[in-house]
Amino acid sequence: MAGNDKNKKSFDLLMIGGGPGGYVAAIRAAQLGLDVACVETEKLGGVCLNIGCIPTKALLTSALLVNEVKDAKKHGISMAELSVDLGPAQERSRKVADQLNRGVTMLFKKNKVTHIEGYGRLAGKGKVEVETGDGSTSTYEAKHILLATGSRPRSLPFLEIDGEKIWSSDDALFAKEAPGTLAIVGAGAIGMEFADIFEAYGSKVTILEALDRVLPVEDKDISAQMEKAFKKRGMDIHTGARLEKAEPGKKGVTLTFKDKKGETQTLTVDRVLSAVGRIPNTEDLGLDKAGVKLTERGNFIEVDQWMRTNVEGVYAVGDCAGGPLLAHKASHEGIVCVEKIAGEAHGPVDYANIPNCTYCHPEVASVGLTEEQAREQGHDIEVGKFPWVGNGRALAHGDADGFIKVIRDKKYSEILGAHIIGPHATELIAEFVLGRHLESTVEEMEKAIHPHPTLSEAVAEAALAALGRPIHI
Ligand code: NAD
Repeated sequence: MAGNDKNKKSFDLLMIGGGPGGYVAAIRAAQLGLDVACVETEKLGGVCLNIGCIPTKALLTSALLVNEVKDAKKHGISMAELSVDLGPAQERSRKVADQLNRGVTMLFKKNKVTHIEGYGRLAGKGKVEVETGDGSTSTYEAKHILLATGSRPRSLPFLEIDGEKIWSSDDALFAKEAPGTLAIVGAGAIGMEFADIFEAYGSKVTILEALDRVLPVEDKDISAQMEKAFKKRGMDIHTGARLEKAEPGKKGVTLTFKDKKGETQTLTVDRVLSAVGRIPNTEDLGLDKAGVKLTERGNFIEVDQWMRTNVEGVYAVGDCAGGPLLAHKASHEGIVCVEKIAGEAHGPVDYANIPNCTYCHPEVASVGLTEEQAREQGHDIEVGKFPWVGNGRALAHGDADGFIKVIRDKKYSEILGAHIIGPHATELIAEFVLGRHLESTVEEMEKAIHPHPTLSEAVAEAALAALGRPIHI
């Protein structure tokens, strides 16, 4: 146990899980004066920080650099021969994750949060049993218990992850070499981000997606632009593809799938990455015995707007509680939950204003409704699109493909949705999130003066486009 009093067995609040849901909530609760402990069996920081969001962003930075170097001649940079090696980039990604992990340990010390190392399970009212690596157990007591146990990769029966030839995202993250050929099943955020990384480091990438487009949660125009961009990089993409079997053999893995025309195709590749979603870690937590209700679909923990389960004193946040499986959503749920416990909550989580980000290149980010959803919901809308070619800074960057699309409600000029594909999309989306949070009109988004020349000017231009009067296009 790292933390304060090693022998302490009773707390106001005990977290099970130290990822972005649990650790952020622990710090906030400690700030509010609660006596807090966090049980974590792996490293503090959870999947996101150790084997998810952060190390993949380090690898994506490396991948971008590879592609920029390949294109460096136009900047007057030439080299005799370019060779790329995933190994050092992978090692760098581990260093970044480790640095952040140490940061969370330090924040726990600073805020006097006790870290209990081990695996926690509910063990009766107000009790948590913690099992350590050597099999010994200790019981802790707390008035409030918050479950933040996260999720893990889903394995399909006809595509069983073996960690060798058929990878989960965890395996892909630790690969030190890019396979010659790689098939990625699933074109959600995980599939698209790893496609970007491995293609940059030399793999011939083929993407198989069951639905009719890549990044299916995004606006249709974004999916179409994304598919075009990846195809331009030489990737093969099969949408509407139904995978039927995966047969590992001496030479790799042979995949059999029905393409969108219903024709059977086979594909033999060195490695397959299964990126078909994640499932919650809710099986071995003593939930059944404690009477904690799970959702009918997906086995997520059922919670109300204050993240309370049906059992008094037991709460759940983040991936294990369902909704979008995103770190920033988990952290916000954690904060709302502990502020409510401490009597300080301002309001529940604003689920309609959670940004979605995919960090491949081009980057994709969005918030609010897609055009299709806005129409389905009966809004009277105007849609504006501002292409990056109309933005001087994007042209100067040499990164002017894509666009920003804004959907506004004509009645009050509310920003119903904003969708960005292109340079620094994942940073720029924050302006729309704030705009929506402050209930700004599209006119106000433009009236706020944006510095010139910046990418952010395109936010204002997209707002103008939604009013039918962009300047630079
Ligand atoms: P996902 O659910 O976003 O995407 C999985 C994709 O796989 C879907 O498009 C689905 O249609 C497809 N699919 C499912 N079964 C298939 C099959 N048999 N054949 C072909 N395609 C199939 O899941 P993910 O990309 O694995 O990510 C998991 C979770 O983690 C998501 O909720 C995601 O939002 C989150 N995540 C987010 C980020 C980010 O924000 N950048 C990064 C990684 C993960």
